[in-house]
Amino acid sequence: MKSSILSVGTELLFGQIVNTNTVFLSKELNLLGIDVMSHHTVGDNPKRLAESIPQLFLDCDLILTTGGLGPTQDDLTKETVCETMHDTLVLHQPTKDNIEAYFKELGRTITENNYKQAYFPSRAVIFPNPVGTAPGFALEDNGKTIICMPGPPREMKAMYEEEIKPFLIKDSEDVIHYKMLRFFGIGEALLETELLDLIDGQSDPTLATYAKEGECSVRVTSKRKTQAEAEKAVEEMIEKAKQRVGQYLFSTEDEEFHEAIGRKLIQRGISISSAESCTGGMFAEALTSVSGISAVFDRSLVTYSNRAKVEELGVKQETLDRFGAVSEETAIEMAQGLKKVSGSRLCISVTGIAGPEGGSHEKPVGLVYICAILDEKIHCKGTNMRNLGRHWNRNYAKLLMFQAVKQLLESEA
Ligand code: ATP
Ligand code: MG
Repeated sequence: MKSSILSVGTELLFGQIVNTNTVFLSKELNLLGIDVMSHHTVGDNPKRLAESIPQLFLDCDLILTTGGLGPTQDDLTKETVCETMHDTLVLHQPTKDNIEAYFKELGRTITENNYKQAYFPSRAVIFPNPVGTAPGFALEDNGKTIICMPGPPREMKAMYEEEIKPFLIKDSEDVIHYKMLRFFGIGEALLETELLDLIDGQSDPTLATYAKEGECSVRVTSKRKTQAEAEKAVEEMIEKAKQRVGQYLFSTEDEEFHEAIGRKLIQRGISISSAESCTGGMFAEALTSVSGISAVFDRSLVTYSNRAKVEELGVKQETLDRFGAVSEETAIEMAQGLKKVSGSRLCISVTGIAGPEGGSHEKPVGLVYICAILDEKIHCKGTNMRNLGRHWNRNYAKLLMFQAVKQLLESEA
């Protein structure tokens, strides 16, 4: 099926709000195997809205609108859609009852325009609003369907989940199953190149790549007659992808890096502590967001100054003087010192230059050393990351720490 998304709201055209509804709906429709042909936005202007509908239907069979379903004068989506789809508005008693009950509960008086929300096209399927007053609806005319939802994202999402999605899949005979593979340490371009023949040569399962702050993902989607068939097709494709880029894969369950690593540490009962300089505790912050991590996480020492590195971790002053705070030697002594104080099986340290100041020719901004020790095994690595600003550099250093833990766990497994 082909669809278009039609957003209604003058605020959108003024750039006062970001069109998050369209982003949400596009992702959801794609997951259902419904192609989104176009995004279109009009102001609160019935004439433009009325003109857009037949125009969009030239290229699709389904239009989803958001916005303009409220009780005020400028909310004209329902009236306009009704007319364009050759129907008339009639009173929908259950909605009228709901509105009255809602106002009674709030102790507010109903105004005439509130009742406007109780009128719907006579042929419409009406969708209750789980978190607000304005219901949505679907209306068919001549084999074309239009679905109208309220503008506030919270209401739109709740209605989509509870009403619209079941409505859209009710006639579908196919089952859609997908998995999100998450990668770190490989760029999107290279990932795509490695998987190119699988991406291009496949009609099912399909592969789509995405990138976000230092990571990338691949969604593997299959649409088959049964759930079991779709799952099998997706698993087979994941195996093929693993053979090529498996070393960068950290999750097939759409988890964040820290969640995947936290879960592994818990599963294997490996205790962990961190000693952090340039990340200022970001590694520990991420790890402690994982529920159940108290079973394995002992402590994080934020040792930002040289003095703290000496006092808390026993880093030698001589090491700092000779090699500097940002050096392999310091990173190793930090992790070794942490091992002494915490006794954790896995100890990880980080020291780096987050910028924008503090870089030099030999040690540029973005240079970071990470040392991870698991039992007796020591792994220390320096990385010159692309300097994309302090925020990015610190976040990337944190991700590199999780990668170091991952590699150490894998080498042990
Ligand atoms: P209401 O009953 O609140 O008037 P409505 O269905 O009439 O709801 P609008 O008046 O068009 O919706 O929009 C209400 C609010 O919802 C906007 O002020 C805006 O904050 C948010 N909103 C509307 N459309 C979008 C969109 N496409 N993306 C994100 N937010 C939106
Ligand atoms: Mg409104």
